[in-house]
Amino acid sequence: MSEKDKYRPRTRLVHDGQSRSPFGETSEALYLTSGFVYDSAEQAEARFREEDEGYIYSRFGNPTVRTFEERMMALEGADDARATATGMAAVTAAMLSLLKAGDHVVAARALFGSCRYIVETLLPRYGVETTLIDGRDLDAWQQAMRPQTKVVFLETPSNPLLEIIDMQAVADITHAHGARLVVDNVFATPMLQRPLDFGADIVVYSATKHIDGQGRCLGGIILGNEDYVRDELANFLRQTGPALSPFNAWVMVKSLETLPVRVDAHCDNAETLADFLAEHKAVNRLIYPGHGDHPQYDLAQRQMTRGGNLIAFDVGTDKADAFNFINALEIASISNNLGDAKTLITHPATTTHFRLDDAAKAELGIRPTTLRVSIGLEDTADLVEDFTRALAIT
Ligand SMILES: *Cc1c(COP(=O)(O)O)cnc(C)c1O
Repeated sequence: MSEKDKYRPRTRLVHDGQSRSPFGETSEALYLTSGFVYDSAEQAEARFREEDEGYIYSRFGNPTVRTFEERMMALEGADDARATATGMAAVTAAMLSLLKAGDHVVAARALFGSCRYIVETLLPRYGVETTLIDGRDLDAWQQAMRPQTKVVFLETPSNPLLEIIDMQAVADITHAHGARLVVDNVFATPMLQRPLDFGADIVVYSATKHIDGQGRCLGGIILGNEDYVRDELANFLRQTGPALSPFNAWVMVKSLETLPVRVDAHCDNAETLADFLAEHKAVNRLIYPGHGDHPQYDLAQRQMTRGGNLIAFDVGTDKADAFNFINALEIASISNNLGDAKTLITHPATTTHFRLDDAAKAELGIRPTTLRVSIGLEDTADLVEDFTRALAIT
C-alpha cells in the first residue's frame, strides 16, 4: 500500500496508477504496444525469472492496462485486479480460474443472459455441475450447497427485474461450506455498492457499461485478494489470453475520472423517472431499487448508496402496447446495451431473454409487457416529456 492510499476515492480515481513518461504529459500516456524490449540479454533472462520487475508482453501485462486496474482497485478496496477484453471474458475467467471437473457451482437464476449460459450450459460440458436458484431465497442457497461446491455466483441488482440479493447472508453460507462468492456488480456500479464489504471474495465487471459510460469500448475486470490474483488468476489469463487492449484501457482510465459525477447524474434522472412512472396510469408495475415500494427496498438501502440507473416496468396489457410505446419514444433509443450516457430501452422477452422458454421467463417475472430502461444523462425534463408523450399513445 502506498502513500496515496490516504486520499479518498474521488481523488484516487483522477490520480491513481499514473506512470508518467519522461515527457511529463498531464494526461495518462497510452502505451499502445504489444511487446517490450530489454537493455540486455541478462535483463531479459531476469525478467522471465521474475527477478526483475517490468513488462514482457501485453498479453501478460501493460502499463496503461495497469493504470486502469489500479484505479479500479482503489475504488473497490481490492488488493489486486486483472482487466479483460470484455465483461464476459471476466466472468468466464473468474469461473474457470476457480473450477475443475467434479466441482459444483450454485448461482442465482436471475443472471445476464451470457452469464446464465456459462453457468447452465458451458460449465456442465466440462464436468462442473451447476444449480440455479431463486437468489432472494436464503433457504434455497443453503439447500443447494454440496461438499463439492467451490463457487457461488450472483448479480445484484439482477437483470432485468432488479431483484436484490443479500450478499452478506449468501457470503456467510458460501464460506461455511468453504466455497468462494463471485459477484457481478455491473448494475450497481462500484460507486453505489462494494461487494467486498459484504463478504464477496471476487468482484467482476463489464467495463463496457457505466465504467466506459459512453458506449465506446468493450472491457472487463476481475478484482480480488492478492493470493487469488497471483496464484490462481494471473497465470490463467496469461496462458489463455483474454487481454484488454491498451487503447480500451486508456479510454476506461479517462472515464473513471468522471464516474462519480456521471453515476450521480444517472441516479438523479432515474429517481425522477421512477417517481413519474410509478404514478402513471398506463404503467402496471414499476421496479426500481431506489423506490420505496421495491419489494426489497430495505435490503437495497443497506447494500447500495443509491438506486442506480436501471428501471423495469410494464406498459399496457400486451406485447403490442409495449412495442408501440418504445417505438414512439424519441430520445430513448431501442438497445439492449446499458450504462450509457444515452437513455436505452429494451423489451427483454424478445431480445436479451428471448432464448428462455415461457416457464423460465415467468419464473423471472419477464412478461410480454415488461421493459427495462437504462436512464442516461439527458435533461430530466426532456426525458419525462418523451415518456409522457409515448405513454399517451399506448
Ligand atoms: C453486459 C454485462 C455482462 C457482459 O459484459 P460484456 O462487456 O458485454 O462482455 C455481464 N454481466 C452483466 C450484468 C452485464 O450487464
